[in-house]
Amino acid sequence: MKTTPTATAAPIGIADAARPDADRPAVVRALSAEVTRLTGAASDTAERQAARLADLTAHYGASPFTPLEQMRRRFDLDRAGFGRLLDLFDRIPQLGAAVEQGPAGKYWSNTIRPLNAAGALEAAVRREPAFPYSVGLYPGPTCMFRCHFCVRVTGAKYDAASVVPGNEILTSVIDEVPSENPTAMYLSGGLEPLTNPGIGALVSHAARRGFALTVYTNAFALTEQTLRRQPGLWDLGAVRTSLYGLNNDEYQATTGKRGAFERVRKNLQDFLRMRAERAAPVRLGLNHIILPGRANRLIDLVDFIAELNESSPDRPLDFVTVREDYSGRDDGRLSEDERTELREGLARFVDYAAERTPGMQTDLGYALESLRRGVDAQLLRIRPETMRPTAHPQVAVQIDLLGDVYLYREAGFPGLAGATRYIAGRVTPDRSLHSVVHDFVTSGRSVDPQPGDEFFLDGFDQSVTARLNQLEQDVADGWDQHRGLIRAV
Ligand code: SF4
Repeated sequence: MKTTPTATAAPIGIADAARPDADRPAVVRALSAEVTRLTGAASDTAERQAARLADLTAHYGASPFTPLEQMRRRFDLDRAGFGRLLDLFDRIPQLGAAVEQGPAGKYWSNTIRPLNAAGALEAAVRREPAFPYSVGLYPGPTCMFRCHFCVRVTGAKYDAASVVPGNEILTSVIDEVPSENPTAMYLSGGLEPLTNPGIGALVSHAARRGFALTVYTNAFALTEQTLRRQPGLWDLGAVRTSLYGLNNDEYQATTGKRGAFERVRKNLQDFLRMRAERAAPVRLGLNHIILPGRANRLIDLVDFIAELNESSPDRPLDFVTVREDYSGRDDGRLSEDERTELREGLARFVDYAAERTPGMQTDLGYALESLRRGVDAQLLRIRPETMRPTAHPQVAVQIDLLGDVYLYREAGFPGLAGATRYIAGRVTPDRSLHSVVHDFVTSGRSVDPQPGDEFFLDGFDQSVTARLNQLEQDVADGWDQHRGLIRAV
């Protein structure tokens, strides 16, 4: 008799070790066989080691910032025993890959892996000079919004006369950045990049050197007229629009500007239409921050995107990223009830987006992705006492219109109290970015963090700081050889 083949699920294996819903006994069995193969250990010893390896992998897949010594104590192992466990972890490369499949996997794959590969974290830990891995250009002299959560000082802006010389400085920085990484630079702020009348020329200049810049913008000035006046904007790699609401009232409540929602929506529709007409490769996406009181709006977000896509059905919006407010301010934190609601809302959002906007990339970041998968992510709250006085210019710097090189992404606003302490130096016609960073690092300069300084760090800065603190703690605890658990690419 002929039988109809039925679909069978792939067997649970080592690669599933960090998935919260994985069948743990099956993972341990697979690991146990591997431990026996590698070490020849008797079955009870192999099984014990396998169970610990499964726990270690699951832990770092969900809580990436844990110092190794803390794990040793949790396992109640002596140093030699824990060292053997870490050696085994290194000998089973699928375990490192499994950590990246865990609920906090985005943190490992988006942030840590590329920085490891570039050697940027190592340079920061050793306090050695290195050209920054990521260079943010902050070309905006002003901003038309006044978002209630923004650290910007109301009314503070760059003098109009600083735009032309500022663009010359930024052009010199573009010329200096090594071109092997096409996404090493981006345009952001500080203030709104599209308020700079020379931005198209900067983008084209960078594109000629092979850089695909992403601009972070509120899209208020992304009008058809701007795009016609500054055709260089079509050389961007991506336009990442910060979305501040899904209707006029929400937009006005957040940005303080009347009519902004309608205008931003029209700009995005026009951009999609013009992009399709020109067959321009630039990607378009939205950044959506979930503000308190709006945790239930994600379905509306998908509807909003689907409506935008009607302007260009064959070339729809490319991506959306959804984040919580990382600023750490009390008024940005979601209540417990909202977090519970959000957990269910995120799952619905991902399904609904796949149905209504197929092909669009949805990125929840590691904290919300963890929440969606039922694991409350380890909260990243860097405080002044955990900030690093030497910061991490080997990893990232930001440069404004004056050529000032800021050590943190949220510090580059004119007139911001205390922010000038986080200027590493100034790029001038006679002084390169390379020498500013080199001098800052080799001089051993440091900044004594004050209460409130933690707000100068964005989510990326916080992740990098947490990782560097973890690496240094591991070294101090004598786990240099295994610091950070995963270091190799
Ligand atoms: S968050 Fe951005 S758009 Fe809003 S006021 Fe600040 S700089 Fe302007």
